[in-house]
Amino acid sequence: MRTTQKRMPNKAIFFDRDGVINRDYGYVGKIENFEFLPEVQETLGRLKALGYKLILITNQSGIARGRYTEADFWQVTNYMQQQLAPYQASFDAVYFCPHHPEAQVLEYRRQCSCRKPQPGLFLQALAEHELQAEHCLAVGDQPRDLIAASRAGITRLYLNSSTDNPELKDLYHQLLPKLSLLPELLQAVA
Ligand SMILES: [Mg+2]
Ligand SMILES: [Zn+2]
Repeated sequence: MRTTQKRMPNKAIFFDRDGVINRDYGYVGKIENFEFLPEVQETLGRLKALGYKLILITNQSGIARGRYTEADFWQVTNYMQQQLAPYQASFDAVYFCPHHPEAQVLEYRRQCSCRKPQPGLFLQALAEHELQAEHCLAVGDQPRDLIAASRAGITRLYLNSSTDNPELKDLYHQLLPKLSLLPELLQAVA
């Protein structure tokens, strides 16, 4: 007799980077300025152990503004991933938008569909990782992070802040004062 194996759907958490994963010094384009926020590595490891893919989606207009290059961005990304590896907490994918409508660097000057609050990168990630929006959640420290996620159909939205933002009044979301609270929150609703 043959049993049918029901494959569990992929589930994922979409993270913003600056201000959620690392301290937001503004235009973090060098390893020297990349400083993990407290308990982030452990927390990401716990979330991954719960079966979530971890996907990073970040606006990097510093590239458009000529503050740092795409190569610099990847250096910081590699460093971040190396620091996460001992915690089994590396991101499964990293997506970034290098554009800005008023970019100093002409090749990046455009009104794109990937800069949050546009949902382009979320839609791309959902497709590339065979994810359904209802099995995903998003964590950001700015309204535009959650607006972008919501436009991609994600409804479980967490504002990683202790203060609510009026721009989010039409979106159902939860305040997440500390990222380290997320694993327990997810276990509670599972
Ligand atoms: Mg941020
Ligand atoms: Zn873009």
